[in-house]
Amino acid sequence: MKIERIHTHILDYQLEQAFESASMRFERRQHCLVEVVCDDGTTGWGECLGPAKANAVVVDTYAAALIGRNPLETEKLWLDLYNRLRDQGQRGLTVTALSGLDIALWDIKGKYYDAPVSELLGGRFRESVRAYATGSFRREGVDRVQDVADEVAGYAREGFHGVKIKIGFDVEEDLRSIAAAREAIGPERRLMIDANHGYDLLEALEVGKRAERYNIDWFEEPVLPEQLSTYRAVRDGQPIPVASGENWHGRYAMLEPLSTRAVDIVQPDVCGVGGFSEMRRVIDMAAMFGVRLVPHVWGTAVCLAASLQVMAALPPNPPRRKPIEPIMEFDRTKNPFRQAVVQTPIEHNQGVVQIPDGPGLGIEINRDALRQFALKEA
Ligand SMILES: [Mg+2]
Repeated sequence: MKIERIHTHILDYQLEQAFESASMRFERRQHCLVEVVCDDGTTGWGECLGPAKANAVVVDTYAAALIGRNPLETEKLWLDLYNRLRDQGQRGLTVTALSGLDIALWDIKGKYYDAPVSELLGGRFRESVRAYATGSFRREGVDRVQDVADEVAGYAREGFHGVKIKIGFDVEEDLRSIAAAREAIGPERRLMIDANHGYDLLEALEVGKRAERYNIDWFEEPVLPEQLSTYRAVRDGQPIPVASGENWHGRYAMLEPLSTRAVDIVQPDVCGVGGFSEMRRVIDMAAMFGVRLVPHVWGTAVCLAASLQVMAALPPNPPRRKPIEPIMEFDRTKNPFRQAVVQTPIEHNQGVVQIPDGPGLGIEINRDALRQFALKEA
């Protein structure tokens, strides 16, 4: 079997209402899917985290090096591609683009061996995961605190066992949002806060100290991802566990945060960290340094499917009779093509998501949806 063609699919949707995190404004939903086609007709799918058009350019840059190669040699191909852009790459878009290709190659490998990727990664430790809802981005023209409360109350009614809300905008308003969210979901459900690196150190310390009483599972991206000594100061100076990792791409980006204990929880994204090949290494690194790993998930059902394969294969750490079960991030913001791109949507039922057990990623792509949501350049 040889790789014959590689296509990128940029999906695009103009939102009726924009929404914001502390660091980004979303006017459109755009995601880049990667399709790798082999000479026997086998097709693999992947997805890249981050700006879709820029990822597509880097995927296209890599593509020529893959034509005619054996898609089953995932490690050999990963190293070849990484080496090609190493001098200007190492982290960032070169690794997020490589992630989409690597996921597609593992999808092909699963189809070839008629096994889910999780089995090829070493085995399935679980067949389902509990999900938490990510939402509560900032919208214009609404009462922010009430908006957060109403939104998370809806997730609680849907059965999600936890919710993550967006902060990092304004310390006092954020603390009111946190209080309102806790009130809305009740004392039992898990509550996480995500500042999308919107604070400086003093703000992060203040929010962490004052939010502790609301029983927060983790404080995500309190400060800028480049500032690891600031991360350590946040960990040392306030009581809530610190989480980060969605923008540390590749094992070298992960090494210092893990080895210096800049975080309590590391959050690699399989579509950004380097695909399944690199995710395996980061899982091992986190285990070696004793840092809990909770994958970051943001994208279409292709990304959800890849993340679920990772979830299935995550070894219990520490191994014990009743292990700490991983939880799955479930983005609830508007994205009409998120589930449309697959024939069978990946949804939760009362906060529980079944992990597909078909070959590869265990999904079938809906090409009608790819056409419907294809980016139309002016
Ligand atoms: Mg986040």
